[in-house]
Amino acid sequence: LASAPVSTRAPRATLSPALKQATPVVVDHATGSWIHGTDGRDYLDFTTGIGVTSTGHCHPRVVAAAQEQCGKIIHAQYTTVMHQPLLALTEALGEVLPDGLDSVFYANSGSEAVEASIRLARMATGRPNIVVFQGGFHGRTVAAASLTTAGTKFSAGFSPLMSGVHMAPFPYAYRYGMDEASAVEFALRELDYLFASRVAPIDTAAMLIEPVLGDGGYLPTPPAFLQGLRERADRHGIVLIVDEVQAGVGRTGRFWGHQFAEGVTPDILITAKGIASGFPISAIAASTELMSKAWPGSQGGTYGGNAVAAAAGVETLAVIRDENLVENARVRGDQLLAGLQEIAARNPRIGDVRGRGLMAGIEFVDPAASGAVPVADAAAAAAVQQAAIGHELLTLTCGPLGNVVRLIPALVVTEDEITAGLKRFSDAVDDALA
Ligand code: PMP
Repeated sequence: LASAPVSTRAPRATLSPALKQATPVVVDHATGSWIHGTDGRDYLDFTTGIGVTSTGHCHPRVVAAAQEQCGKIIHAQYTTVMHQPLLALTEALGEVLPDGLDSVFYANSGSEAVEASIRLARMATGRPNIVVFQGGFHGRTVAAASLTTAGTKFSAGFSPLMSGVHMAPFPYAYRYGMDEASAVEFALRELDYLFASRVAPIDTAAMLIEPVLGDGGYLPTPPAFLQGLRERADRHGIVLIVDEVQAGVGRTGRFWGHQFAEGVTPDILITAKGIASGFPISAIAASTELMSKAWPGSQGGTYGGNAVAAAAGVETLAVIRDENLVENARVRGDQLLAGLQEIAARNPRIGDVRGRGLMAGIEFVDPAASGAVPVADAAAAAAVQQAAIGHELLTLTCGPLGNVVRLIPALVVTEDEITAGLKRFSDAVDDALA
């Protein structure tokens, strides 16, 4: 392998300690489900850049599309001149977006798209408040951090945050010791209680939810909960925003994560991450009627809808279709979950295993603790995540309490790669918790 020349000079600048790195790996190159380190080791990548490299690392078709676009035009600011890749991406998105969400615009990141959706919902309704659900992650810009309840590390120390954000419970059945139906009933009643006690529906612009809580603990949103939100949104004239940044684009085994909830169509859908296999682009989609409530010029940005990212997005969607990757996510996700359940059955410190498609969460707890809610064991999760690196498997932790390990393989992952990942994960659990 060709490795980068190593300088012997003391560095004149170094990376900020504000960046916390989950692994010591330095990438030389990467392909498919694999990261090849400058240390000469081959790591099975079950992080995919936090759910971004949907078609695997450097899919040849995506690489070719981006290279070709670089030779045509790299940046054509889309509120100045339009470019072909963005028209093509809009057409391709039209094939996969739910009926009725026929108007789209673009930004660079999930956070920016989340902010754009809040601007739109407030402009459309003339109302100030946004209801979010405990454990939701919506980004790191100040407004997006204001909407995030996946951990205080995302918002502590730089208040005041954006006003008008109110948090309702999420139906976290395992934590509450409830079955799913009871957790949904509890969370919907608490939402109604919030509407009655503090946040009047007539002052509420939007409810914002992820189809699977991502950074907040890899918890699938029960379909009945989303249906309950849809019903309340309709009843009160509230905009339902579904943040598909991490769960969208095939990852759950359906094209959109919210499609598990029969009959639910969001008013605004936000997508990013997997949409362009690693190139930065995000999109928000809504009905033309809703979009037209925003002032012309009230949305946009210098780099939004970049031409190379858009070309990569067009090819990503084509690869997902041609290689049947949504179906692959479903089948390989079932294999992953079944294997994890076997590992959990042998280890009492794994309190819960859950997932949808290729989003799997393993929650570590203290099995000796008593009480109404499980006692998190963040040290166990961290030890397993670190031990996995030694077995050349890359994973991440998540959850407000840091006690969940999450596995996010590429949508192209093979049966053998899932089998290998499960073996490596099992070895890491044995090493870390023996
Ligand atoms: N929403 C969700 C559901 C996410 O998972 C993330 C990123 N982890 C974001 C928003 C923010 O996206 P970005 O980091 O691109 O700003």
